[in-house]
Amino acid sequence: MRSLEGLSINLATVRQQWNLGEAVKACARHGISAIDPWRDQVAAYGLANSAKVIKDHGMRVTGYCRGGMFPASDAAGRAAAIDDNKRAVDEAVALGASCVVLVVGGLPQYSRPGSAPTKDLAGAQEHVADSIAKLLEYSRAAHIPLAIEPLHPMYAADRACVNSMRHALDLCDRIDPARSGMLGIVVDLYHVWWDFELYRQIERCGRERLLAFHVCDWLVPTTDLLNDRGMMGDGVIDILRVRSAVEDLGYSGYVEVELFSDRWWARPMDEVLTTCIERIMTVV
Ligand code: ZN
Repeated sequence: MRSLEGLSINLATVRQQWNLGEAVKACARHGISAIDPWRDQVAAYGLANSAKVIKDHGMRVTGYCRGGMFPASDAAGRAAAIDDNKRAVDEAVALGASCVVLVVGGLPQYSRPGSAPTKDLAGAQEHVADSIAKLLEYSRAAHIPLAIEPLHPMYAADRACVNSMRHALDLCDRIDPARSGMLGIVVDLYHVWWDFELYRQIERCGRERLLAFHVCDWLVPTTDLLNDRGMMGDGVIDILRVRSAVEDLGYSGYVEVELFSDRWWARPMDEVLTTCIERIMTVV
C-alpha cells in the first residue's frame, strides 16, 4: 500500500493492551487516522467519551463492530436481537461510523443464549435474512449502511451462518435489489481468502456493495481458530492480489487491519502498531 493514509486499525488488534481512549491516542501518535472500535470497548469507555476522543483526534471511523447475532428460538428473543441492533446503529451515528459490521449469528442457542437448541441451520439463515431486512429500514433512516461480514465456515454454528461472499451478496440482492448503497459486505481476508470464487464475487460486489476491507494473514498451522490470526506477510494469503482486485472495483476506502491474536496481544502496544504500519507499507 506504501502509504499510511488509507490505514485503519480495527481496535480488536490492540484490545488486550489498551482501552479505547488510549488506543485512539496511540493511533494518532503513530500517524494513523482511522479506527474501527468494538461495542464492548465503547461501552467500557462510555459512548460520549468515545465520541469525544475520536473527534478530538480527527479519527475516521471505518466501521462499528459489531451488530448481528440475530437468530433466536422465539419471538421475544428475535425482537430483543433487533432492538439491540438498533442500539448499535444509534451508537454508530454517535461515533460517526461509516457502517455497522454484521456478524449475523449462527444457531439460535449460540447467538442468543437461552434459546432452545436446534440443528436447523437453514432456518437460522432464513431468520438472518428477515432480520437484516427489518434492521435495514431503521439503519436507512439513520443513514448508516449495514455491512454483512461472511465468516469462515468453521464459525457457522456459533458466530455466523453466512459463510461465503456469494451467500452474503445473494442476501444483498434479495434485500436491497436497488443497490442503494445502504447494504453491502465486508471482505475480511481471514474469512474468504480460501474461496475459489473470491475474485468473481469481488467483481460482483461492485463499488456500492463493498463497504469495508479487513486484512490479516492465514498462518500455517493456525493453532487457535479464533485468536491466531497472522500479521500481514507472515502467512499464505496473496494480499496484494486481493487488494488490487478490490481497487479495480474503484474501492478507495480504508484498508483495516484486524488481528485477533494471542501472539500480538502479548507484544507491547507500540510494537504492534509500528509492525502494522511497516507491513501495510510493504506487503499489503
Ligand atoms: Zn473483520
